[in-house]
Amino acid sequence: MNGFQIFFGDITTIHADAIVNAANTTLLGGGGVDGAIHCAAGPDLLKACRTLHGCQTGEAKITKGYRLPATYVIHTPGPIWQGGSCGEADLLKNSYQNSLKLAEAYHCHTVAFPSISTGVYHFPLEKAAPIACQTIRDFLKSSKHVTEVFMVCFDDETKAAYEKADAAIQQI
Ligand code: ADP
Repeated sequence: MNGFQIFFGDITTIHADAIVNAANTTLLGGGGVDGAIHCAAGPDLLKACRTLHGCQTGEAKITKGYRLPATYVIHTPGPIWQGGSCGEADLLKNSYQNSLKLAEAYHCHTVAFPSISTGVYHFPLEKAAPIACQTIRDFLKSSKHVTEVFMVCFDDETKAAYEKADAAIQQI
């Protein structure tokens, strides 16, 4: 039985086969969840990221988790919100889908996501949450290795938005 769970937490503490980092295109670290992941993983994560030569928006690249409880970190730069007519929705979907594909290729069973792009990238939460939930649930219908996906929310507003979006999807 493949499952999707939404809960409150700090993604750097999650014992999953892979956690996803809402990175920027340089992959050389930043603020928000990116900074927290690099801080918790230790300097070897930055060394590994330097060898990847960046990543395009909506694409994903993988490293080990180093000092994190997670085995792997999947780095994906989500889109910066520019009003919604610059392909932001498709790019956000790509970030989730490409991260999950990489997790599948590495035979991960459990994958934890933060709320990609809804922090400093300003993607509206009520628009981002349905895209994330739908993409994750669609992927779980046919994935072989990935069986559990967690949406790890760092604040109440984020958790409420994902719960609402997921409930609406489940009712269809
Ligand atoms: P982006 O640049 O993609 O918008 P941010 O890091 O600014 O990324 O924010 C993405 C989301 O991650 C926000 O909801 C933010 O509150 C959340 N976040 C920040 N730190 C953590 C953490 N340690 N664990 C989980 N989520 C976090």
